[in-house]
Amino acid sequence: MYFSKMFLPTLREVPAEAEIISHKLMLRAGLIRKLASGIYSFLPLGLRVLKKIEQVVREEMDSAGAQELLMPALLPAESFRESGRWEVFGPEMFRLKDRNDREFCLGPTHEEIFTGTVKSSLRSYRSLPVILYQIQTKYRDEIRPRFGVMRSREFIMKDAYSFDRDEAGLDDSYMKMEKAYRKIFDRLGLDYKVVEADSGAMGGSGSQEFMVISEIGEDGIAYCEACGYGANEEKASCSPKNTIHSVGSMDESMIEKIHTPNIHTITELTEFLGCDAVKMAKTLIYKADGKLVAAMVRGDRELNEVKLKNVLECTELEMADAESVRSVTNAEVGFAGPVGLKIRIIADHEVAQGRNLIVGANETDHHLLNVNIGRDFDAEVHDIRFIAAGDACPCCGKSIILARGIEVGHIFKLGTKYSSALACNYSDEEGNERPMVMGSYGIGINRTMAAVIEQHHDENGIIWPMEIAPYHVIIVPVNVLDEKVMKIAEVMYQRLTDAGLEVILDDRNERAGVKFMDADLIGIPIRINVGRKAAEGIVEYKPRGGKEALDLTVEEAIEKIMSKGDGSSHSL
Ligand SMILES: [Zn+2]
Repeated sequence: MYFSKMFLPTLREVPAEAEIISHKLMLRAGLIRKLASGIYSFLPLGLRVLKKIEQVVREEMDSAGAQELLMPALLPAESFRESGRWEVFGPEMFRLKDRNDREFCLGPTHEEIFTGTVKSSLRSYRSLPVILYQIQTKYRDEIRPRFGVMRSREFIMKDAYSFDRDEAGLDDSYMKMEKAYRKIFDRLGLDYKVVEADSGAMGGSGSQEFMVISEIGEDGIAYCEACGYGANEEKASCSPKNTIHSVGSMDESMIEKIHTPNIHTITELTEFLGCDAVKMAKTLIYKADGKLVAAMVRGDRELNEVKLKNVLECTELEMADAESVRSVTNAEVGFAGPVGLKIRIIADHEVAQGRNLIVGANETDHHLLNVNIGRDFDAEVHDIRFIAAGDACPCCGKSIILARGIEVGHIFKLGTKYSSALACNYSDEEGNERPMVMGSYGIGINRTMAAVIEQHHDENGIIWPMEIAPYHVIIVPVNVLDEKVMKIAEVMYQRLTDAGLEVILDDRNERAGVKFMDADLIGIPIRINVGRKAAEGIVEYKPRGGKEALDLTVEEAIEKIMSKGDGSSHSL
């Protein structure tokens, strides 16, 4: 492609609304353009990358035995009514009506549609297992679309669904998908962690997320370098180092009520009493499916609501309002404590292990000292706190590291959640009707593209991995008015193009500096400068990521390029 003919509206200025590198660079390099909040067009250069990412995904899904199909994006409400998700999705679902007043939505996800399709087509155990996938546009009305295509309202997703006879079959399909995902993200040049994710109290039996390590990631993850353990921070389990039964020899002191006027928070309390938050326990009052419960974590810890929700097996969990708190504690908010509390109490392991704790007194402006579980109150003991940096790894005991991650993939053992709800059954060898056992597997294609940029850029622009670069090579004749220079540039262009490589020839009559800046910005992996030494048949070979340019003859340069990018775009 000749640069002068390309539709490539690059920007010199960083758009003010772009907060993160990938968003800035995608706009500046002319990959995308915003149409409305959370809605983007992919321009030619961006679309080339997008298609290549899709192709990598497609190849690995196909070689794992999955079959591609394409479902509509416009979906009738009935499919979601049957599964109960027409209500569950709430305002995140884009809903609309046709001219006959029938309800539809723009599909936020396709579990129901795949399940329905398989249900009406496969009946026998002989047809299973089957894994189907599509690469298709999804719609979610995000409250706060941001970070460009990282969190947008219209996005392309690869979603796959597996249908098996039993749990063992599901395990097998799940493992195939996990392997395929690793290959995909390896080929895309991403540094990622595979972490355990919460699959919910009612959900399936296992779930993992593929997280690209990045400071701008929206998810917290915890991992261990020593043994490879990794989990989403909502899921990461905190192993109690001691069990509740082997508490140290700390003697239990007499309980004591103290006056703590206007002390509402742990920070205020530590300052007032001049002691560490480790000695305290916070008691938080929640409403779980409308019922009040108390949850206790140590003063220096954060309560993990996902874990609490799983312990309570409730569908809705929210902090209780002030009035409800007053009704159970007989005190203003900030003075709740476990002693004398007449509701269900869930205490974290550390609270159970602590002795002589400081807690709220259920009396305004008062706290209790020397409170002990078992003696002063009873509670169910569970792991309900967030893991913290330096905590012991639940697998090997070494130190846990916390990081931020961009979720690019998610694999999920659904079990029979949808097949049971939608009666997606098969008949086994004995002729018994059984629900198919399902898995679902997603990859955010646009988000993956942004994640690659987050990990592959420098101050000058994007540095595309060869596999998904929009073009492999850019040839820059330093002076287009010099016939010798242009001759060599055109010969190289022709030969590389004929060899199956994707090449840009920057034929614009611009200063060399401007062309170099553009080439760096759009991130083409190899740049060939044809300049002063063209008369001697010498060109400059410059890899985008590297500092040094190499003087090579035209033949040497072509040979070197061919060894890096072979047109099938698998190498490098
Ligand atoms: Zn470990």
